[in-house]
Amino acid sequence: MQFDTIIRDGTVVTASDTYASDIGITSGRIAAIARDLPADSARTLLDAKGFLVIPGGIDVHTHLDMPFGGTTSSDDFETGTRAAAFGGTTTLIDFAIQYKGQSLRQALDTWMKKAEAKAVADYAFHCIITDVAAAQLEEMGALVREGISTFKLFMAYPGVFMLDDATIFRAMLQAAKHGGMICMHAENGGAIDVIVRRALAEGKTAPKYHALTRPTTAEGEATSRAIALAEMAGAPVYIVHLSCNDALEKVREARDRGLPVYAETCPQYLYLSLDNFDAPGFEGAKYVFTPPLREKWHQEKLWQGLARDTLQVVSTDHCPFCFKEQKELGKDDFTKIPNGGPGVEHRLSLIYSGGVHGGKFSANRFVELVSTAPAKLFGLYPRKGTIAVGSDADLVVFDPNAEQVISAKTHHMRVDYSMFEGIRVRGLPKVVLSRGRVIVQDGKFTGRAGAGEFIRRQTFSGPAM
Ligand SMILES: [Zn+2]
Repeated sequence: MQFDTIIRDGTVVTASDTYASDIGITSGRIAAIARDLPADSARTLLDAKGFLVIPGGIDVHTHLDMPFGGTTSSDDFETGTRAAAFGGTTTLIDFAIQYKGQSLRQALDTWMKKAEAKAVADYAFHCIITDVAAAQLEEMGALVREGISTFKLFMAYPGVFMLDDATIFRAMLQAAKHGGMICMHAENGGAIDVIVRRALAEGKTAPKYHALTRPTTAEGEATSRAIALAEMAGAPVYIVHLSCNDALEKVREARDRGLPVYAETCPQYLYLSLDNFDAPGFEGAKYVFTPPLREKWHQEKLWQGLARDTLQVVSTDHCPFCFKEQKELGKDDFTKIPNGGPGVEHRLSLIYSGGVHGGKFSANRFVELVSTAPAKLFGLYPRKGTIAVGSDADLVVFDPNAEQVISAKTHHMRVDYSMFEGIRVRGLPKVVLSRGRVIVQDGKFTGRAGAGEFIRRQTFSGPAM
């Protein structure tokens, strides 16, 4: 048997197994997993001795090239997918946004154009629906058939994205009918809006008030309501960027009752807290995103949630805005600060470091959280999310003991600060392959813009996990 590439002598780690093996790659796919594949049977040999070989990371929540609050997120599909690759993430699921009056198809076309010539690794889309009339409900089935099997709805941002319960319920019924799934931004936007207006009227305009006006109760309530609506609709629901124990408890109760309820959290909620708003001057704006940072004690609850499978996925909600000129739009009013933070590059290292080295879960659970569960829940499995014969050769040779101090000076995201500045991580990607091509090796980018492909996702396959 002839291979394009053999990864030799690595320790293969999947969501279920850990074993020593070589991996043979042909035409972008894994063709053989065996000990001692003959060295002369491949054009390229990659030595993985002493390192782990894991499936490429899948980040199911990013916002590249996204207009928001009069500006646009600072990473496009080239810089964003490249930074992701440096961090060991080889597939992104971004969001195509349907604006009022548009068809879902128009949203998809717009985002396909943004990504097509730029992405260095594979990508897929969820569709954000902001205007759910009969026509758009009708169109959901067609989108599912084209590989857009998940739809994001908002219970927050009144007047912009927020939908009422009846509309959410209708969309859930429709998603369930076509094998799709609803991803929910769960915060009680109506109550938050009143609290925000009151704060502004009292002259509270600093960045920290973004966090202080969005109580955890608002997230807990909306999470509970989203779950109830999904239960009545007989639909699965996925809670995005879960940030606090209030919401975690609701998800745990629902899963204990056997409901197909899933949730993700993000590294910022595991590593950062309200304390970050003590930063001098306007620097708290670096941590303005939604849901906001919480009191520190929530972090431990979220780590436990990941270990105990109350939370199934770690994504990043990567939505970078530069501190200069972009975050500064809200200098005198926190409601004008573009919401979002950069994180796509450091997800694997932060979760390996805190989770595996931190003694909270195994390397297998780490792989499950950053790759396998995202692939299964979002219709990419087994093409992606595991190491198996026939799967795409999206692979990461991962050095579990290499250390790095995260800094904006050395990161690859197109943004002028890091949320995780100064945090030391242990566990770094060494070589990253996308469909068999080496795109990052020892800190050098060797990929190409436009090489990434749009991946049509399968329908939601039921509560298999
Ligand atoms: Zn988001």
